[in-house]
Amino acid sequence: MKSLVDILETTNSLDGDQLAALLTTRDIDVVDYLHRRARTVAQMHYGTGIYVRGLIELTNICRNDCLYCGIRRSNTHVERYSLTVDQVMACCEHGYRLGFRTFVLQGGEWGDERAAWIADIVAEMRHRWPDCAITLSLGEHSREVYALWRDSGADRYLLRHETHNAAHYAQLHPAEMSRGHRLQCLRWLQELGYQVGTGIMVGSPWQTVDHLVEDLQFIASFRPAMVGLGPFIAQHDTPLGGHPNGTIDMTTRLYSIVRLMLPGALIPSTTALATLAPEGRLQGILAGANVVMPNLSPGEIRAQYALYDGKAHSGSEAAEGLRQLEAQLATIGYHIDWSRGDCRF
Ligand code: SAH
Repeated sequence: MKSLVDILETTNSLDGDQLAALLTTRDIDVVDYLHRRARTVAQMHYGTGIYVRGLIELTNICRNDCLYCGIRRSNTHVERYSLTVDQVMACCEHGYRLGFRTFVLQGGEWGDERAAWIADIVAEMRHRWPDCAITLSLGEHSREVYALWRDSGADRYLLRHETHNAAHYAQLHPAEMSRGHRLQCLRWLQELGYQVGTGIMVGSPWQTVDHLVEDLQFIASFRPAMVGLGPFIAQHDTPLGGHPNGTIDMTTRLYSIVRLMLPGALIPSTTALATLAPEGRLQGILAGANVVMPNLSPGEIRAQYALYDGKAHSGSEAAEGLRQLEAQLATIGYHIDWSRGDCRF
Protein backbone atom coordinates (compact mmCIF):
# COMPACT_ATOMS: atom_id res chain seq x y z
CA MET A 1 0.00 0.00 0.00
CA LYS A 2 2.90 2.40 0.66
CA SER A 3 3.77 1.98 -2.99
CA LEU A 4 0.54 3.81 -3.84
CA VAL A 5 1.91 6.83 -2.01
CA ASP A 6 5.14 6.56 -3.99
CA ILE A 7 3.27 6.29 -7.28
CA LEU A 8 1.15 9.29 -6.35
CA GLU A 9 4.24 11.30 -5.47
CA THR A 10 6.15 10.44 -8.65
CA THR A 11 3.29 10.60 -11.16
CA ASN A 12 0.93 13.02 -9.35
CA SER A 13 -1.95 10.68 -10.07
CA LEU A 14 -3.69 7.46 -9.10
CA ASP A 15 -6.76 5.75 -10.49
CA GLY A 16 -10.07 5.81 -8.66
CA ASP A 17 -9.67 2.48 -6.87
CA GLN A 18 -6.21 3.42 -5.68
CA LEU A 19 -7.43 6.76 -4.35
CA ALA A 20 -10.28 4.98 -2.57
CA ALA A 21 -7.78 2.57 -1.04
CA LEU A 22 -5.73 5.45 0.40
CA LEU A 23 -8.84 7.14 1.73
CA THR A 24 -10.06 4.04 3.52
CA THR A 25 -6.99 2.09 4.61
CA ARG A 26 -6.89 1.22 8.31
CA ASP A 27 -3.15 0.76 8.20
CA ILE A 28 -1.87 3.69 10.22
CA ASP A 29 1.67 3.21 8.95
CA VAL A 30 0.42 3.92 5.45
CA VAL A 31 -1.49 7.00 6.59
CA ASP A 32 1.56 8.20 8.46
CA TYR A 33 3.74 7.65 5.39
CA LEU A 34 1.20 9.53 3.24
CA HIS A 35 1.38 12.51 5.60
CA ARG A 36 5.17 12.40 5.77
CA ARG A 37 5.61 12.37 1.99
CA ALA A 38 3.06 15.18 1.62
CA ARG A 39 4.80 17.42 4.11
CA THR A 40 8.17 16.73 2.53
CA VAL A 41 6.74 17.78 -0.83
CA ALA A 42 5.15 20.88 0.72
CA GLN A 43 8.54 21.78 2.19
CA MET A 44 10.26 21.25 -1.16
CA HIS A 45 7.98 23.96 -2.58
CA TYR A 46 7.41 26.26 0.36
CA GLY A 47 10.02 25.40 2.98
CA THR A 48 8.76 25.59 6.55
CA GLY A 49 7.01 28.91 5.98
CA ILE A 50 3.24 29.09 6.39
CA TYR A 51 1.41 31.84 4.53
CA VAL A 52 -1.19 33.84 6.40
CA ARG A 53 -4.30 35.46 4.90
CA GLY A 54 -6.33 37.98 6.83
CA LEU A 55 -9.97 36.92 6.66
CA ILE A 56 -12.58 39.68 6.71
CA GLU A 57 -16.14 38.43 7.06
CA LEU A 58 -17.86 41.11 5.03
CA THR A 59 -21.47 40.14 5.61
CA ASN A 60 -23.69 37.33 6.81
CA ILE A 61 -26.58 38.43 4.59
CA CYS A 62 -27.17 35.72 1.99
CA ARG A 63 -29.71 35.05 -0.74
CA ASN A 64 -28.89 31.34 -0.77
CA ASP A 65 -30.28 28.59 1.38
CA CYS A 66 -27.53 25.92 1.45
CA LEU A 67 -28.78 23.25 3.81
CA TYR A 68 -25.56 23.03 5.83
CA CYS A 69 -24.77 26.68 6.31
CA GLY A 70 -25.56 28.68 9.44
CA ILE A 71 -26.05 31.94 7.54
CA ARG A 72 -28.56 30.45 5.04
CA ARG A 73 -31.39 32.85 4.33
CA SER A 74 -34.04 30.83 6.17
CA ASN A 75 -32.13 30.82 9.42
CA THR A 76 -34.15 33.42 11.32
CA HIS A 77 -31.95 33.11 14.41
CA VAL A 78 -29.15 35.06 12.79
CA GLU A 79 -28.77 38.75 13.41
CA ARG A 80 -27.71 40.03 9.97
CA TYR A 81 -24.91 42.53 9.43
CA SER A 82 -22.85 44.00 6.69
CA LEU A 83 -19.59 45.77 7.40
CA THR A 84 -19.30 49.37 6.27
CA VAL A 85 -16.58 50.50 3.88
CA ASP A 86 -14.86 52.22 6.80
CA GLN A 87 -14.92 49.03 8.84
CA VAL A 88 -13.38 47.04 6.00
CA MET A 89 -10.62 49.62 5.57
CA ALA A 90 -9.97 49.65 9.30
CA CYS A 91 -9.61 45.84 9.24
CA CYS A 92 -7.10 46.09 6.39
CA GLU A 93 -5.17 48.88 8.06
CA HIS A 94 -4.92 46.86 11.25
CA GLY A 95 -4.01 43.75 9.28
CA TYR A 96 -1.37 45.55 7.25
CA ARG A 97 0.28 46.79 10.42
CA LEU A 98 0.30 43.24 11.78
CA GLY A 99 2.09 42.18 8.61
CA PHE A 100 -0.65 40.69 6.42
CA ARG A 101 -0.16 41.02 2.66
CA THR A 102 -3.28 39.15 1.59
CA PHE A 103 -6.82 40.11 2.52
CA VAL A 104 -9.76 37.80 1.94
CA LEU A 105 -13.24 39.29 1.76
CA GLN A 106 -15.66 36.48 2.45
CA GLY A 107 -19.39 36.63 2.91
CA GLY A 108 -22.89 35.58 2.09
CA GLU A 109 -24.04 35.97 -1.48
CA TRP A 110 -25.82 39.12 -2.55
CA GLY A 111 -27.64 39.95 -5.74
CA ASP A 112 -25.71 41.72 -8.45
CA GLU A 113 -27.23 45.06 -7.43
CA ARG A 114 -24.51 45.25 -4.74
CA ALA A 115 -21.70 44.36 -7.17
CA ALA A 116 -20.69 47.98 -7.73
CA TRP A 117 -20.44 48.55 -3.98
CA ILE A 118 -18.02 45.60 -3.69
CA ALA A 119 -16.09 46.84 -6.72
CA ASP A 120 -15.62 50.20 -4.96
CA ILE A 121 -14.29 48.46 -1.87
CA VAL A 122 -11.86 46.38 -3.92
CA ALA A 123 -10.69 49.46 -5.85
CA GLU A 124 -10.09 51.36 -2.63
CA MET A 125 -8.14 48.46 -1.14
CA ARG A 126 -6.10 48.16 -4.33
CA HIS A 127 -5.34 51.87 -4.19
CA ARG A 128 -4.38 51.94 -0.52
CA TRP A 129 -2.45 48.66 -0.33
CA PRO A 130 -0.98 48.13 -3.80
CA ASP A 131 1.43 45.49 -2.54
CA CYS A 132 -1.30 43.23 -1.15
CA ALA A 133 -3.23 40.42 -2.78
CA ILE A 134 -7.01 40.78 -2.67
CA THR A 135 -9.03 37.59 -2.51
CA LEU A 136 -12.80 37.43 -2.80
CA SER A 137 -15.03 34.62 -1.57
CA LEU A 138 -18.53 35.90 -2.20
CA GLY A 139 -20.28 33.06 -4.00
CA GLU A 140 -21.82 32.74 -7.44
CA HIS A 141 -22.19 35.72 -9.75
CA SER A 142 -22.39 36.53 -13.44
CA ARG A 143 -19.28 36.59 -15.59
CA GLU A 144 -19.71 40.37 -15.90
CA VAL A 145 -19.63 40.84 -12.15
CA TYR A 146 -16.53 38.68 -11.77
CA ALA A 147 -14.92 40.71 -14.56
CA LEU A 148 -15.85 43.99 -12.85
CA TRP A 149 -14.25 42.86 -9.58
CA ARG A 150 -11.16 41.61 -11.40
CA ASP A 151 -10.83 44.96 -13.19
CA SER A 152 -11.20 46.71 -9.85
CA GLY A 153 -8.12 44.90 -8.56
CA ALA A 154 -9.10 41.51 -7.16
CA ASP A 155 -6.44 38.84 -7.70
CA ARG A 156 -7.91 35.65 -6.32
CA TYR A 157 -11.30 34.03 -5.82
CA LEU A 158 -12.32 31.19 -3.56
CA LEU A 159 -15.40 29.21 -4.51
CA ARG A 160 -15.56 25.68 -3.19
CA HIS A 161 -17.42 23.34 -5.49
CA GLU A 162 -18.58 21.60 -2.24
CA THR A 163 -19.11 18.25 -4.00
CA HIS A 164 -18.59 17.32 -7.63
CA ASN A 165 -21.33 14.73 -7.70
CA ALA A 166 -24.51 16.31 -9.09
CA ALA A 167 -26.93 14.14 -7.05
CA HIS A 168 -24.98 14.79 -3.86
CA TYR A 169 -24.84 18.50 -4.68
CA ALA A 170 -28.63 18.46 -4.97
CA GLN A 171 -28.94 16.82 -1.55
CA LEU A 172 -26.99 19.65 0.07
CA HIS A 173 -28.51 22.59 -1.77
CA PRO A 174 -31.95 23.98 -2.57
CA ALA A 175 -33.45 23.24 -5.98
CA GLU A 176 -32.55 26.63 -7.43
CA MET A 177 -28.82 25.92 -7.05
CA SER A 178 -26.91 23.51 -9.24
CA ARG A 179 -23.51 21.94 -9.52
CA GLY A 180 -23.45 22.91 -13.17
CA HIS A 181 -23.71 26.61 -12.42
CA ARG A 182 -21.09 26.43 -9.68
CA LEU A 183 -18.66 24.78 -12.09
CA GLN A 184 -19.52 27.36 -14.74
CA CYS A 185 -18.59 30.10 -12.25
CA LEU A 186 -15.26 28.39 -11.57
CA ARG A 187 -14.49 28.28 -15.28
CA TRP A 188 -15.35 31.96 -15.70
CA LEU A 189 -13.10 32.89 -12.80
CA GLN A 190 -10.22 30.98 -14.29
CA GLU A 191 -10.78 32.53 -17.74
CA LEU A 192 -10.75 36.00 -16.18
CA GLY A 193 -7.29 35.40 -14.78
CA TYR A 194 -8.11 35.00 -11.12
CA GLN A 195 -5.98 32.60 -9.08
CA VAL A 196 -8.87 30.31 -8.24
CA GLY A 197 -9.45 28.25 -5.12
CA THR A 198 -11.97 25.48 -4.92
CA GLY A 199 -12.64 22.61 -2.53
CA ILE A 200 -15.17 20.72 -0.50
CA MET A 201 -16.59 20.03 2.93
CA VAL A 202 -15.26 16.71 4.13
CA GLY A 203 -17.77 14.35 5.69
CA SER A 204 -20.81 16.29 4.56
CA PRO A 205 -24.07 14.34 4.94
CA TRP A 206 -24.44 11.47 2.46
CA GLN A 207 -20.89 11.87 1.18
CA THR A 208 -19.33 8.56 0.09
CA VAL A 209 -15.78 7.53 -0.73
CA ASP A 210 -16.80 7.49 -4.39
CA HIS A 211 -17.82 11.13 -4.10
CA LEU A 212 -14.43 12.00 -2.61
CA VAL A 213 -12.67 10.20 -5.45
CA GLU A 214 -14.77 12.20 -7.91
CA ASP A 215 -13.82 15.41 -6.08
CA LEU A 216 -10.13 14.53 -6.23
CA GLN A 217 -10.36 13.76 -9.93
CA PHE A 218 -12.09 17.07 -10.54
CA ILE A 219 -9.45 18.94 -8.53
CA ALA A 220 -6.67 17.21 -10.49
CA SER A 221 -8.19 18.21 -13.81
CA PHE A 222 -9.22 21.75 -12.84
CA ARG A 223 -5.81 22.50 -11.28
CA PRO A 224 -6.88 25.26 -8.90
CA ALA A 225 -4.20 27.48 -7.34
CA MET A 226 -5.71 26.78 -3.96
CA VAL A 227 -7.66 23.87 -2.49
CA GLY A 228 -9.80 24.57 0.58
CA LEU A 229 -10.89 21.46 2.44
CA GLY A 230 -12.60 21.59 5.79
CA PRO A 231 -14.65 19.11 7.76
CA PHE A 232 -18.42 19.53 7.69
CA ILE A 233 -19.55 20.72 11.12
CA ALA A 234 -23.23 20.68 11.96
CA GLN A 235 -24.95 23.99 12.69
CA HIS A 236 -27.90 23.44 14.99
CA ASP A 237 -30.31 25.84 13.26
CA THR A 238 -29.95 24.21 9.84
CA PRO A 239 -31.78 21.21 8.34
CA LEU A 240 -28.51 19.22 8.50
CA GLY A 241 -27.92 20.16 12.13
CA GLY A 242 -28.39 16.60 13.34
CA HIS A 243 -25.74 15.02 11.12
CA PRO A 244 -22.34 13.91 12.41
CA ASN A 245 -19.31 16.09 11.78
CA GLY A 246 -16.53 15.24 9.35
CA THR A 247 -13.29 13.91 10.80
CA ILE A 248 -9.76 15.18 11.17
CA ASP A 249 -8.49 11.86 9.83
CA MET A 250 -10.33 12.07 6.50
CA THR A 251 -9.61 15.79 6.12
CA THR A 252 -5.87 15.37 6.64
CA ARG A 253 -5.70 12.36 4.30
CA LEU A 254 -7.22 14.59 1.65
CA TYR A 255 -4.70 17.37 2.35
CA SER A 256 -1.90 14.89 1.78
CA ILE A 257 -3.39 13.40 -1.38
CA VAL A 258 -4.01 16.85 -2.85
CA ARG A 259 -0.48 17.91 -1.94
CA LEU A 260 0.93 14.93 -3.85
CA MET A 261 -1.43 15.45 -6.81
CA LEU A 262 -0.78 19.20 -7.09
CA PRO A 263 2.59 19.69 -5.35
CA GLY A 264 2.65 23.49 -5.69
CA ALA A 265 -0.95 24.13 -4.62
CA LEU A 266 -1.87 26.40 -1.76
CA ILE A 267 -3.64 24.31 0.86
CA PRO A 268 -5.04 26.03 3.93
CA SER A 269 -5.23 24.25 7.24
CA THR A 270 -8.80 25.40 7.74
CA THR A 271 -10.64 27.01 10.60
CA ALA A 272 -13.13 24.13 10.58
CA LEU A 273 -10.27 21.72 11.22
CA ALA A 274 -9.04 23.91 14.09
CA THR A 275 -12.59 23.91 15.43
CA LEU A 276 -12.68 20.11 15.73
CA ALA A 277 -9.56 19.94 17.89
CA PRO A 278 -7.04 22.41 19.33
CA GLU A 279 -4.24 20.60 17.50
CA GLY A 280 -6.20 20.37 14.25
CA ARG A 281 -4.43 23.31 12.66
CA LEU A 282 -0.99 21.73 13.26
CA GLN A 283 -2.14 18.31 12.12
CA GLY A 284 -3.22 19.92 8.86
CA ILE A 285 0.23 21.44 8.37
CA LEU A 286 1.91 18.14 9.18
CA ALA A 287 -0.26 16.60 6.48
CA GLY A 288 0.98 19.06 3.86
CA ALA A 289 -1.08 22.25 4.29
CA ASN A 290 0.84 25.54 3.93
CA VAL A 291 -1.63 28.36 4.59
CA VAL A 292 -3.67 29.60 7.54
CA MET A 293 -6.35 32.25 7.46
CA PRO A 294 -6.56 34.13 10.75
CA ASN A 295 -9.69 36.14 11.35
CA LEU A 296 -9.36 39.91 10.92
CA SER A 297 -13.06 40.70 11.25
CA PRO A 298 -14.16 43.17 13.92
CA GLY A 299 -14.59 41.30 17.21
CA GLU A 300 -18.22 42.28 17.64
CA ILE A 301 -19.48 40.58 14.48
CA ARG A 302 -17.54 37.33 14.64
CA ALA A 303 -20.17 35.41 16.54
CA GLN A 304 -22.74 36.39 13.90
CA TYR A 305 -20.71 34.81 11.11
CA ALA A 306 -21.52 31.38 12.50
CA LEU A 307 -21.33 29.04 9.52
CA TYR A 308 -21.25 26.08 11.90
CA ASP A 309 -21.38 25.39 15.65
CA GLY A 310 -18.35 26.22 17.77
CA LYS A 311 -16.51 28.02 14.96
CA ALA A 312 -13.10 29.03 16.28
CA HIS A 313 -12.79 32.78 16.33
CA SER A 314 -10.42 33.62 19.11
CA GLY A 315 -6.99 32.55 20.23
CA SER A 316 -4.65 31.75 17.39
CA GLU A 317 -7.63 31.82 15.03
CA ALA A 318 -7.82 35.60 15.52
CA ALA A 319 -5.27 38.03 14.21
CA GLU A 320 -4.56 39.11 17.79
CA GLY A 321 -3.38 35.57 18.40
CA LEU A 322 -0.62 35.76 15.83
CA ARG A 323 2.07 35.45 18.43
CA GLN A 324 0.34 32.36 19.76
CA LEU A 325 0.21 31.02 16.21
CA GLU A 326 3.94 31.65 15.78
CA ALA A 327 4.60 29.78 19.00
CA GLN A 328 2.37 26.87 17.96
CA LEU A 329 4.05 26.66 14.57
CA ALA A 330 7.47 26.75 16.21
CA THR A 331 6.63 23.59 18.17
CA ILE A 332 6.59 21.69 14.88
CA GLY A 333 9.48 23.57 13.29
CA TYR A 334 7.44 25.98 11.15
CA HIS A 335 7.10 29.77 11.04
CA ILE A 336 4.85 32.42 9.48
CA ASP A 337 5.84 33.54 5.98
CA TRP A 338 4.57 37.11 5.67
CA SER A 339 4.88 37.44 1.90
CA ARG A 340 1.88 37.69 -0.45
CA GLY A 341 2.23 33.98 -1.03
CA ASP A 342 1.28 33.43 -4.63
CA CYS A 343 0.83 29.93 -5.96
CA ARG A 344 4.00 28.28 -7.26
CA PHE A 345 2.79 26.57 -10.39
N1 SAH B 1 -20.97 32.51 0.12
C1 SAH B 1 -19.62 32.12 -0.20
C2 SAH B 1 -18.80 31.82 1.04
C3 SAH B 1 -19.34 30.67 1.81
S1 SAH B 1 -18.64 30.39 3.39
C4 SAH B 1 -19.67 30.93 -1.14
O1 SAH B 1 -20.76 30.47 -1.44
O2 SAH B 1 -18.63 30.48 -1.61
C5 SAH B 1 -17.21 29.46 2.95
C6 SAH B 1 -17.31 27.96 3.07
O3 SAH B 1 -17.75 27.56 4.35
C7 SAH B 1 -18.31 27.29 2.16
O4 SAH B 1 -17.82 27.18 0.86
C8 SAH B 1 -18.52 25.94 2.84
O5 SAH B 1 -17.67 24.94 2.26
C9 SAH B 1 -18.10 26.21 4.28
N2 SAH B 1 -19.19 25.88 5.20
C10 SAH B 1 -20.46 26.37 5.21
N3 SAH B 1 -21.20 25.73 6.14
C11 SAH B 1 -20.39 24.83 6.73
C12 SAH B 1 -20.57 23.86 7.74
N4 SAH B 1 -21.74 23.68 8.35
N5 SAH B 1 -19.50 23.09 8.10
C13 SAH B 1 -18.30 23.27 7.50
N6 SAH B 1 -18.08 24.16 6.54
C14 SAH B 1 -19.11 24.93 6.15
